[in-house]
Amino acid sequence: MDEHLYLFFHILSHALLGAAISYILLPVGTWVQRISYIFIGGLSGIAPDLLGGRDSQPWTHSLLFAPIVVLWIALIAKLLLRKVSFWRLWGASTASAIGGHLFLDYMGHDIPLLYPFSDKLWIMEALTLGDPWVWFPLAAGLLLAICLKRKTKLPVIFAVIFVLLYCTYKIIVKSIIYQEVEARYPVGEVSYITVTPNTYFEFDFDPRTWLKFKYRTISSHHYQGGIAGYWGEKLGSIDYHSFYPKKREVVLSRGEYTVIYDNSSDSFYMDVTKEWVEDGYRYIEGTFEDKTYLYKEITPGKWDEVVEQN
Ligand SMILES: [Zn+2]
Ligand SMILES: [Zn+2]
Repeated sequence: MDEHLYLFFHILSHALLGAAISYILLPVGTWVQRISYIFIGGLSGIAPDLLGGRDSQPWTHSLLFAPIVVLWIALIAKLLLRKVSFWRLWGASTASAIGGHLFLDYMGHDIPLLYPFSDKLWIMEALTLGDPWVWFPLAAGLLLAICLKRKTKLPVIFAVIFVLLYCTYKIIVKSIIYQEVEARYPVGEVSYITVTPNTYFEFDFDPRTWLKFKYRTISSHHYQGGIAGYWGEKLGSIDYHSFYPKKREVVLSRGEYTVIYDNSSDSFYMDVTKEWVEDGYRYIEGTFEDKTYLYKEITPGKWDEVVEQN
């Protein structure tokens, strides 16, 4: 993947959704005014990132600070568009920052939506930012709006509705896959499931690729994952399953459960080849560096190697 291209489409998505929202909210105007709306909305859509990343400057990605983040844009807009009320310009810019930026970031990765009242990182992770299903309809809608003479808001409204329906679709499919994974890959200890788009670190021009999901389940001893496909039809096809004999610590990081990396010498994992229950005990067989190992769960969460006596 070209990382810059990926980032470009991520930022473009913010700018276009921001532009579309302002375009819809601001009064019908002349051609020059409409171009200004797109510029103002687009700028508001990327404003949170312009003022700082969400890690170093969490306030830029907080709902509560959104009006402040775009205040300078509303002031510039008022100078350009004297006939439009300042409050309307400020309101539209704020809506563009919230809808065009915070909403999309939340759909893609973790953000501190309620900072400073809460440090909680909110994350939906149903979209890969840069998804052409988001920026393409918006780009088309705005382009059409500039070309049309009358009812210029209509294509933009349709584009925004399309993006909202697309996001809803992704959230629903994600939760369907989640439930399917939960049922299909039960783990005998507390485990956490993540279902995410299958499009990280690549920029595929085939739009179908962007509709696919992958999954992962983690717990103290297990790491399992694979491809889920469009709606879970690929579950079970290309999967991996690792078993960690030594208990690992699961922590909440960036809004998601993850495992602390353990680089001590006695920590290793094996690729699970077989799992079964015998006389009430759970057994796991797997390979590590071409050798086969067998482990038995002595007490819940405590696994010991079974060494063959012969
Ligand atoms: Zn951002
Ligand atoms: Zn972003």
